[in-house]
Amino acid sequence: MSETKSNMEQIVSLAKRRGFIYPGSDVYGGLSGTWDYGPLGVALKRNIMQLWWQMFVDERDDMYGVDAAILMNQKVWQASGHVDTFTDPLVECENCKGRFRADKLEDENVCPACGKENTFGPARQFNMMFKTNVGPVDDEASISYLRPETAQGIFTNYKNVVDTFYPDLPFGLAQQGKAFRNEISPRDFIFRSREFEQMEIEYFVNPANWEESFEHWRQQVWRWTQALGLRDDMVHELEVPEDDRAHYSQRTIDFEFDFPIGREELLGLAYRTDFDLMNIQNASGKSMEYTVKGTNDKFVPHVIEPSFGVERALMAVLSSAYTVDEVNGEQREFLKLPDHLAPVKFAVSPLLKNKPELVEKAREVYTILKKKYGAVMWDDNGNIGKRYRRQDEIGTPHCVVIDFDTIEKDGMVTVRDRDTTEQRRVSIEEL
Ligand code: ATP
Repeated sequence: MSETKSNMEQIVSLAKRRGFIYPGSDVYGGLSGTWDYGPLGVALKRNIMQLWWQMFVDERDDMYGVDAAILMNQKVWQASGHVDTFTDPLVECENCKGRFRADKLEDENVCPACGKENTFGPARQFNMMFKTNVGPVDDEASISYLRPETAQGIFTNYKNVVDTFYPDLPFGLAQQGKAFRNEISPRDFIFRSREFEQMEIEYFVNPANWEESFEHWRQQVWRWTQALGLRDDMVHELEVPEDDRAHYSQRTIDFEFDFPIGREELLGLAYRTDFDLMNIQNASGKSMEYTVKGTNDKFVPHVIEPSFGVERALMAVLSSAYTVDEVNGEQREFLKLPDHLAPVKFAVSPLLKNKPELVEKAREVYTILKKKYGAVMWDDNGNIGKRYRRQDEIGTPHCVVIDFDTIEKDGMVTVRDRDTTEQRRVSIEEL
């Protein structure tokens, strides 16, 4: 069986055709940088987010979840530095009026839209936050922003959680949710969108021990990429040199992945020192100090931040799973998704849909599996070959078929494996 990994366009097309991801506002011609999840996409995305929550919150005893409001007091974004510095350099072509991110141009003298040379004026800093007003009055005081990261919703709740739970250091706060960035050039499918989801952890540590926690989270990131089914040799650590790091970071590792579009950032791991809590302390006048239990030892904790993007994880999972091979002389496209991420775990079919006795038995099996696994699909459309192909394309690991032997002979059903296409007879209880 020969397998070839294929390119981005085929994945985007499969994602749309099979109900994973559609362009946002599709009926109206779309809205650049936005994407909508269809029934299978939302299932896959939730499986990824649920896996993360399970690994990093539920299975640990030093982690606390939060879910902060997306709209926050504008002081949050002033204190964090986002109002002043959350910018990308923007250039405009004098010929076609196209606008581009200066640091991502392939050739900074040639306009990628109209092809003219030397038409760019000087770069200006463009703030990527979406601005809005809270309440009916449009004035300075009512300004707010759609959050450009989930992290600040964690930092602003640090004191609340310490006051209510008083956890021992080190401990972490975790949050999942939407983030919005008015990217100058959204591109590459869901890789760079204007609305996306993050899963972030702020792990509060005694500054004397930051290196140990940084190393711990570095290992946890590898556990995560493995749990997503990503091959180790396609994940790369990029130690970000001092000049390229955010000014508050004393160490950053970008974890990159070999996407079909090239090697790009999948997620980040940063040592943010006490930068954020000190900003909050200074701007709010409230102490962010932590007192070590049973001592007079007081300090503002430092922070290790693993920051995960849901879309980039999903794109890495889809592109790793996308496989083309040949079955019985015909080309087959399928998603080799890990079982625990697959949106549908089992598809159940009667061999023929016009035989009531087969349909009845198949419905019985469907109900049993549905109770047990939840993510089970009824599929009686077209012939068996077509059903297998359709289920292969959406990454269903097992197809169960009920035929006459099931009813007349042995009570066994056929289970067909997605990857090997092998079929086995098993009893219903065994499923
Ligand atoms: P990039 O350099 O690619 O713009 P970044 O360094 O600005 O990313 P961070 O601010 O570190 O990204 O955000 C943390 C994570 O959030 C990223 O690793 C990525 O997974 C995700 N992310 C950031 N921006 C986007 C976006 N526009 N679309 C989708 N995911 C994003």
